[in-house]
Amino acid sequence: MLTPLFDLGTYKREPRFTNGFYQKDILSVSQFSKADLDYIFERAQEMLAMCETWGTCDLLKGYTLACVFYEPSTRTSSSFIAAMERLGGKVIPITEGIQYSSVSKGESLIDSMITLEQYCDVIVLRHPEIGSSATAAKYVKAPIINAGDGAGEHPTQALLDLFTIQRELGTLDGLKVAMVGDLRYGRTVHSLTRLLSQYDVSLRFVSPDTLRLPLDLMNELIDKGLNVRETNKVSDVIENADVLYVTRIQKERFSDLAQYEEVKNYFVISPDLMAQAKEKMVVMHPLPRVGEIEYKVDKDPRAAYFRQVQNGLYVRMALLAAVLGQA
Ligand code: ASP
Repeated sequence: MLTPLFDLGTYKREPRFTNGFYQKDILSVSQFSKADLDYIFERAQEMLAMCETWGTCDLLKGYTLACVFYEPSTRTSSSFIAAMERLGGKVIPITEGIQYSSVSKGESLIDSMITLEQYCDVIVLRHPEIGSSATAAKYVKAPIINAGDGAGEHPTQALLDLFTIQRELGTLDGLKVAMVGDLRYGRTVHSLTRLLSQYDVSLRFVSPDTLRLPLDLMNELIDKGLNVRETNKVSDVIENADVLYVTRIQKERFSDLAQYEEVKNYFVISPDLMAQAKEKMVVMHPLPRVGEIEYKVDKDPRAAYFRQVQNGLYVRMALLAAVLGQA
């Protein structure tokens, strides 16, 4: 009989909170009620305070995250890694090296997910197919957090976007929000629009004709009785907007590159355009930008896109802790 290595005592890994998030997959923004959003945002505020005071803590000590990205990412992958590390957890990052993993040998997404689940407690997944996270979640017990499923949704981005609007403008009601750019393929737009539709907002959609908001989403908004309008000119919306949510024209989603070339420089937010906007408003962007906001705009205090990036860390810390029952 060997001398036991560990004195495990009576400790059990159990959830500290019963708020409905424990072990839940985060697949779509439609899962979130207003009360859920308030809860996550309050926790995110606590994460912010913790980061400013201590930098790191032990809340998720003993937990491991697998961070799996089948599509490029800078902010989402690194912010989830930073979030887990600031909470004292560990990360298996499968991002840049995905071409060296078994996926390149033809392993199916599900086999990879089931394998990774054996090593971790939660999985963050980005994949080019719409519905991929939902499919993975059917086979995997560990919570799956959708970090972007093709042109489908990007729920954690939408949560951090909403948190940013609340922090910047102090409210989510009574706002005029203009979404600009690739509204057809832009998953961040799809998710944020759905979240905003729970509030008393007016929505303005600004895009070239070929990149308009998908019809089913537009109909959802109309059925909810929201005040919505479409246009193809930023100048139609800039004066009244409280939020200008600018997005990139996403080259990788076009099957016909000639179509992309036609619209790629359609919108550019410049200091001249900003001069027409309200004094109290915010310009947001999920990033990366590829020319649609001039660098000169960065100095404008209304440019909130880098503060938005920082908020992503706190919101993702709150979400990870919540699905692991520790927040
Ligand atoms: N980073 C965002 C996304 O992953 C926006 C973009 O790529 O343009 O959807």
